[in-house]
Amino acid sequence: MKLGLFGFPVGHSRSPRLFARLSRELGRPIAYAAVAAEPGTLAQVVEGARAAGWRGANVTVPLKLEALGLAGRLTSAARAVGAVNVLRFDRVVVGHNTDGEGLRDALARARVSARGRAALVFGAGGAARAAGWALAKDGARTVRFASRTLSRARKTARELAALFPRTRFSAGAPARADVWVQATPLGMKGFADETPAPPSLPGPEAAVDLVYGRLTAFQRDAAARGARVSDGAPMLAFQALRAWEFWDAPLGAHKRAALAETLIEEIRR
Ligand code: NAP
Repeated sequence: MKLGLFGFPVGHSRSPRLFARLSRELGRPIAYAAVAAEPGTLAQVVEGARAAGWRGANVTVPLKLEALGLAGRLTSAARAVGAVNVLRFDRVVVGHNTDGEGLRDALARARVSARGRAALVFGAGGAARAAGWALAKDGARTVRFASRTLSRARKTARELAALFPRTRFSAGAPARADVWVQATPLGMKGFADETPAPPSLPGPEAAVDLVYGRLTAFQRDAAARGARVSDGAPMLAFQALRAWEFWDAPLGAHKRAALAETLIEEIRR
């Protein structure tokens, strides 16, 4: 199957390695190419890929909104998250988002249950919205977004509230919660490695950092406050597997979980 990734830049992406490993594990040929597409050129790049017989593609920064506008059809997850990270080339281009599903899978793997609990999400961008979606799907009682830009956090809270009436969404300063999700780039290469959690905030039971492949200040600090901590590698693995399933066919929970372990190992290598 011909697949790939559109982003700008794409040199740092782990996706080609992940899909090469998946191809070996599944015994299925996957040709996966990373294509650097400058903002504003995605439609053209997609046309080229379709003409070359691609089945679909992952979409990464900064093209997730452009992909949302370009898709002829959107899945409910893509509409809810307001961003597209996977395209499938059917008769029309179908836009989907697997970040939320990937996080739900990762939370289940870490035995973190949000049901009836209070959650705090740091950030208000695409990954934070996907986290809000995942936490609400898992039955969180409250989800609060804490971001530098309050208006962005408010908009995210308001839009998700319209979709999940049983979860109370809010935006503002970080407040006590049972589960933290770190969805800012803090701790990523090229960004400051500091926690967005104020020192006075009591630690949660569980803290998930969406940054992967490194032990960040957020992870160290949450652990010091008594939390069970995980990084973003499981979510990255699961969102890739969910993308594969969107292009091919459902794997089933058992096979998905087993494949996720090999991909997590690949990410951490
Ligand atoms: P994004 O749309 O650019 O949003 C980033 C958010 O972080 C915004 O709310 C932004 O706030 C905030 N932020 C940026 N720099 C900050 C700083 N120095 N201090 C405090 N807040 C800051 O990015 P995204 O797509 O949501 O991605 C966020 C992170 O999640 C990235 O590290 C990405 O790699 C990771 N991620 C991981 C996975 C995975 O599978 N593990 C999947 C998706 C994303 P302002 O509005 O104030 O700038």
